[in-house]
Amino acid sequence: MAKQDILDRIHNFYEVALGYTEEQAILEATRCLQCPNPRCVQGCPVGIDIPAFIKEIKEGNYSAAASKLKEKNSLPAVCGRVCPQENQCQELCVIGKMGDPISIGRLERFAADYERKAGVTIPEKQPDGATGKVAIVGSGPAGLTVAADLVKQGHEVVMFESLHYAGGVLMYGIPEFRLPKEIVQAEVEYIKNLGVDVKTNYTIGRIFTIDELFADGYDAVFIGSGAGLPNFMGIEGENLGGVYAANEFLIRVNLMKGYLFPEYDTPIRIGKNVAVIGGGNVAMDAARCSLRLGAEKVYIVYRRAREQLPAREEESENAEEEGIIFRLLTNPIKFTGDESGWVNGMECIKMELGEPDASGRRRPVPIEGSNFMMDVDTVVIAIGQTPNPLIQRTTDGLETTKWGTIVADEETGATSKEGVYAGGDVVSGAATVISAMGAARKAAQGIHGYIQKKKTGQ
Ligand SMILES: Cc1cc2nc3c(=O)[nH]c(=O)nc-3n(C[C@H](O)[C@H](O)[C@H](O)COP(=O)(O)OP(=O)(O)OC[C@H]3O[C@@H](n4cnc5c(N)ncnc54)[C@H](O)[C@@H]3O)c2cc1C
Ligand code: SF4
Repeated sequence: MAKQDILDRIHNFYEVALGYTEEQAILEATRCLQCPNPRCVQGCPVGIDIPAFIKEIKEGNYSAAASKLKEKNSLPAVCGRVCPQENQCQELCVIGKMGDPISIGRLERFAADYERKAGVTIPEKQPDGATGKVAIVGSGPAGLTVAADLVKQGHEVVMFESLHYAGGVLMYGIPEFRLPKEIVQAEVEYIKNLGVDVKTNYTIGRIFTIDELFADGYDAVFIGSGAGLPNFMGIEGENLGGVYAANEFLIRVNLMKGYLFPEYDTPIRIGKNVAVIGGGNVAMDAARCSLRLGAEKVYIVYRRAREQLPAREEESENAEEEGIIFRLLTNPIKFTGDESGWVNGMECIKMELGEPDASGRRRPVPIEGSNFMMDVDTVVIAIGQTPNPLIQRTTDGLETTKWGTIVADEETGATSKEGVYAGGDVVSGAATVISAMGAARKAAQGIHGYIQKKKTGQ
């Protein structure tokens, strides 16, 4: 798939990956063996009928391919861009045993992009039994998926979102050059057109509590409030000016369009030498944003080795191509500041890999006496997020874990509180778009079953 030229793209926020041409899409679709027992589908958390949508592309029926995708996935243009397909559907594709697996994600993106330009089909609602009124808290991939599934089944669905745009991390976290916001909003629009009432600037736990939603006549509530609370390192100097949490940094850049300052009213100060701590997608995004905002040197500082980087391979590769410098097996232990309280240096220690830890990855162990200094004037900390505790604290009877995640049944999304369901990052901890959507599809079924029982006793 073609990409924007490296020397151009490091100076702009336009999309890097340019997508397939029609000829490329047909050629790729023709490689699919149309397996009668397709292994790729087993690797898809939302269960897309992958051979069927690929067949439509092969035959030139691109809108039909998009409709097929949307039977199971209301956000195909998003998933075609950011899903870790290489570890899911594509990993199981039989062709991968002999060579390159089918590029299912790129085909998904092609069909969704085609349909967006050609005109989107809104499917008929298919009421199935009794219907009820459901509140969705949070408009990320989890909330959007539950909303779409339930509204298609005939339920009345109202979605509450605390930010001023719907989309969750897709809007505020993932940068424009990986996922254009226009595309996220087009998929949100599709879900609104299905009949979901989306209310932005509504923080549940402040404007209404969950119990107040029930008192207001809702039959069930789905919590998909994500994991938006950043983790910190707890080391000296973390409060210095110029040290950002990745969340704040990315919200300023993406949601509040800091990269278009002064056209947009969001100043964002970036220094010459930026260190981003962490090795996941969030870290890659923060590093690549820093470069585009004008930093001269941008470092990824990660305590494990290259093979253990949790970011998607495609995104680490893009970062490397763009000139991001990787300081692997390295961990910061202290930030130093100048007389005006601004970060001007970072003391680090070299690491080596020891025995595997609880995550199954080899534990990084500091090498004594290997301390060294790095000159940095901006630091972005991207070492993970946990759920924001507001809803958990304002809702009686909701069981949570010591990490602040909500306890929910894996198959139905049911929580310990009657009528309350949850899914996505607020249950799993920070994970992926498609895993949030997979949990959401199960929760939608759980809620549908609950409403049947509540209304008909069966
Ligand atoms: C920078 C970044 C890059 C990422 N890159 C990728 C990637 O490339 N591929 C991938 O698969 N995954 C990626 N992820 C992870 C993925 O985005 C998340 O796993 C996914 O968005 C989780 O979906 P969710 O619906 O559970 O939560 P979120 O997307 O976090 O959405 C939760 C929503 O709930 C709202 N909310 C919270 N509390 C309240 C409240 N009290 N009242 C009302 N609304 C509330 C929030 O404002 C937010 O809009 C990335 C994450 C980040 C941060
Ligand atoms: S496993 Fe690969 S070849 Fe078989 S149907 Fe799925 S995408 Fe096509």
